Amino acid sequence: MTNQASQDLTDNAIFPFQVGETAVRGHVIRLSGVIDEILQAHQFPDPVSSLVGEATCLASMMGASLKFDGKLIFQAQGDGPVSMLVADYTAGGALRATASLRAGDLAQTGTALIGKGHIVMTIDQGEDMERYQGVTPIEGTSLAEAAVAYFAQSEQIPTAIRLAVGRMSTPGEPDRWRAGGIMAQFVPGEGGTRERGEEILKSEDDRDVWARAAAFVETTKDDELLDPMISAETLLYRLFHEDGVRAFTPQPVHGECGCSGDKIAAVLSRYSEDDLRDMVEDGAINVVCEFCRKEYQFTPQGEPSGAP
Ligand SMILES: [Zn+2]
Repeated sequence: MTNQASQDLTDNAIFPFQVGETAVRGHVIRLSGVIDEILQAHQFPDPVSSLVGEATCLASMMGASLKFDGKLIFQAQGDGPVSMLVADYTAGGALRATASLRAGDLAQTGTALIGKGHIVMTIDQGEDMERYQGVTPIEGTSLAEAAVAYFAQSEQIPTAIRLAVGRMSTPGEPDRWRAGGIMAQFVPGEGGTRERGEEILKSEDDRDVWARAAAFVETTKDDELLDPMISAETLLYRLFHEDGVRAFTPQPVHGECGCSGDKIAAVLSRYSEDDLRDMVEDGAINVVCEFCRKEYQFTPQGEPSGAP
C-alpha cells in the first residue's frame, strides 16, 4: 500500500486514506519540526501548547480535503483561561496557530481550558468568493470530541478523531514537540450533493462499516500518533488491515504565517493619528505578530521602518 514517494515522507505531512472500497475516508497527520517551531515561538504553558498542537492537527486534516485555493480556519472561543484558540491551514500546506489567554486556572486540560463557548470553522475561498462559516457549541472534554460534535451538528457527517501532542526527549538535546492525529469520516459518493439533514448512513451495511471504522480509530494510542518509529502507513495497516486500506499521496505541510510589514502597515493606516500616537513607545510603533511572534517596527506615522 505504500509507494516510494510516501516512504520518504514520514513527518510534517498529511496522509489521505480510504478504508477498502467503503465510503470511509480520512487523514493521518504527523508533525515534528513544524509543530515544534510553532509551539516554541509561543512558549505557552504545556496544557495550552497541547491544545494549540491539537487545533493545528485538526485544521490540517480538515483543510487537506479542500479542493480549491483557499484557507480553513479552526477556532474555539470560550469563557475559560484560553479565550481563543486559532489554527489556519492554507492550500499548499501552510500552517499557523495561536491562542489568547486570560487570567484563570491553567492546570486544567482539554476543553475545560476553553470553558463554555463555540467551535467556529471558516472556509475562506479568497476575495471574490463567499466565506463559509459553521458554528456549534463546544461539547465533550477534549478538542477531538468537540470537533466530532461539530461535524455531527453542523454537517451531519459521522466522524471519528484521535489527537495527541507531546514532547520528545533526546539525550543532550532540548525537548521537541510532536503532534499527530487521525480523522475518519463516512463520506459517500465523493463530490455528490446531499439534501441538508438527509441521513448519511442509509443502510444496515453502512452503519456496520462506519461503526467498525470508528471503533478502530478510537483505539489509536497516543504513541502510535507520536512515535517517529511508527509511520502513518504502519498505523493505517494496524488499524484497517482486515478491511484493506488505500493510502494516497501524502501532502507535505510547513509553518508559514503570511504576515508582512506591508500587511500590518495597511492595518495601521486605518487608525487615526491620535490612536497611532498612543501606540508609540521609545519613538516607534512596535507590533508583534500574534501567530509567529515576529516583531515589526513602524514610524510614529505607521510607516514601515525596517527590521527592529
Ligand atoms: Zn506572523
